[in-house]
Amino acid sequence: MNKADSERMAGILQEMGYQEAENELTADLVLYNTCTIRDNAEQKVYSYLGRQALRKKTTPHLKLIVAGCVAQQEGEALLRRVPELDLVMGPQHANRLETLISQVDNGHQVVATEEHHILEDLAIARRDSQTCGWVNIIYGCNERCTYCVVPSVRGKEQSREPKAIKKEIEELAKRGFKEVTLLGQNIDAYGRDLPGISSSGRRKNTLTDLLYYIHDINGIERIRFATSHPRYFTNRLIEACANLPKICEHFHIPFQSGDNEILKKMSRGYTIEKYKKIIYQIRTLIPEASISADVIVAFPGETKKQFHNTLQVIKEIEFDQVNTAAYSPRPNTPAALWPNQLSEEVKVERLRELNLLVEETAKRRNFRYKNKIQEVLVEKINPKDPNQLMGRTRTNRLTFFPKYSSDNHLYKPGDLVKVRINQIRSFSLTGLPIE
Ligand code: SF4
Repeated sequence: MNKADSERMAGILQEMGYQEAENELTADLVLYNTCTIRDNAEQKVYSYLGRQALRKKTTPHLKLIVAGCVAQQEGEALLRRVPELDLVMGPQHANRLETLISQVDNGHQVVATEEHHILEDLAIARRDSQTCGWVNIIYGCNERCTYCVVPSVRGKEQSREPKAIKKEIEELAKRGFKEVTLLGQNIDAYGRDLPGISSSGRRKNTLTDLLYYIHDINGIERIRFATSHPRYFTNRLIEACANLPKICEHFHIPFQSGDNEILKKMSRGYTIEKYKKIIYQIRTLIPEASISADVIVAFPGETKKQFHNTLQVIKEIEFDQVNTAAYSPRPNTPAALWPNQLSEEVKVERLRELNLLVEETAKRRNFRYKNKIQEVLVEKINPKDPNQLMGRTRTNRLTFFPKYSSDNHLYKPGDLVKVRINQIRSFSLTGLPIE
């Protein structure tokens, strides 16, 4: 989500005539798009800002901007901490960057963190990839997971109109993009704030309806979506993914903890049994699907037994990938105030044990690709080996292969290539093109 915001803001700067500087210490304008999901991400911002604040003394025309979730969380307080800042802007204001910069040009120090109806995406994003594009479909989140800072920094849910989303994807297809990833903090909430009830009394504008609506856009070969919430994940969605050929066989569904007591304290709104049922249904209808998840360990009060319940779920489900984190107390969240916080030592130890298991499981799972042919969408040249290309399988496995075929055909970004997999690692694959 943050990357998508960065691309939109970079697009606005480009439209305004700014060019990319060689590095941040020579730039005339520096914008940090920040993340506050965990404390260490937030602390990094302050160290970067310290260096820029010093530069401002010798480069008075330097424009210094903090955008994103730290900006939203800290607001005015950020100006007191770093008075050299020109602009502090929350994520809901990303599309207003040009207006806000013009206020700075008029001599103001600006804080834009008030609740704001997000403008339809008029900004043309400067996309890092020419093949795979992010498309926001819903901003904000109305859930109240007790550890999570997102609702307080990204505001209430705001779904984009299906027509506007389709138009953006059509534009991407015209520009040669082959894959889109639909984005939302809780993508299953898509459409809850849009009008429309069908004759059967069902909501009309759900994520499933949107998938059907955008599926046939010419030129787009693959569609993904993230992030799913087990509380709202429906069978109808799984059936749509099984029926629609462009929807990739990959599901990212965070389960956060394998223990029902902890899930309750997290206010996640489902049990681990319900979660397993979803995975079972996906694997019944789409046996080749890969499943990834997010997990938090050492949540306040988590016992050894409860932690082991999380490990057990990872063993049982055999995830393809799990993003892991030790609990980090965030400002303005209920769990941060609870007295039963666990020590750093326990956090580090549990995270280490979890990561070992995740790596082992992912590698075992990857062995199913050995000697199999996978369709890879080429994204770019491998930065570590210019003779190799890198891309992803439909199941979202990062895959490397030589850029020339055996008969000297040169592959390029945007190509869909059949690759026979011959090397397996925990989080990536290597193979040879077969056509
Ligand atoms: S659903 Fe996701 S973004 Fe929303 S509060 Fe829960 S963890 Fe945070």
